[in-house]
Amino acid sequence: MKNIRIAVDGPASSGKSTVAKIIAKNLGYTYLDTGAMYRCATYLALKNDLTDENVAMILQQLDEHPISFGRDIEGNQLVFLGDVDVTLAIRQNDITNNVSWISALPEIREELVAQQRRIAEKGAIIMDGRDIGTVVLPDAELKIFLIASVDERAERRYKENLEKGIPTDLETLKEEIAARDYKDSHRKVSPLKAADDAITFDTTGVNIEGVVNFIQEKAKKIIDKG
Ligand code: C5P
Repeated sequence: MKNIRIAVDGPASSGKSTVAKIIAKNLGYTYLDTGAMYRCATYLALKNDLTDENVAMILQQLDEHPISFGRDIEGNQLVFLGDVDVTLAIRQNDITNNVSWISALPEIREELVAQQRRIAEKGAIIMDGRDIGTVVLPDAELKIFLIASVDERAERRYKENLEKGIPTDLETLKEEIAARDYKDSHRKVSPLKAADDAITFDTTGVNIEGVVNFIQEKAKKIIDKG
């Protein structure tokens, strides 16, 4: 069986990670949440009071506290910085509202993209992010770009946050999602955009199963051909 690489890009809360995790499990593939890596860099910067003028120190922090992934007994993804579990900490509002300036720093992107490519070397991987199809894996066998209305994405994130116990106001969330979309799409380095050869899928009104089936069918066709 061919071990392909699947790139899933799209704006905040477009359902990328939810569907990518399910597909990884179904296909027996590795799942890589690249957003978590930018969140980890943001966590280290905020924890050490670093700004965009201290890029070398943020890189040093990343070097001293390597990002890694694990699983809890229920199979949920865990994120570590060194040996510290930051799974929940990196989802808090202060991280979410600062991640865009960190992810706009070219040196930080260079480092994290290098790590992402190393993880993808063996194939059999599904990665979600903003620049997977355009920059990280431009030769990925399957590229998907997921979109959905701001309202629907805010509702999805609202429910997720409630489940995680993160205090949230729906209207504020809509504004924050729209602001993050704008910043991610307009930054100079690796802006959020669909690769020319990506399949764009609007998930507004489509349930998780519908999105999973859509991507999986495309993946299976490529895998079976190999
Ligand atoms: O996917 P998630 O919402 O967790 O991503 C957090 C942030 O990380 C994004 O808003 C974006 O600024 C940044 N990011 C990125 N490139 C990626 C993945 C995430 O710039 N490949």
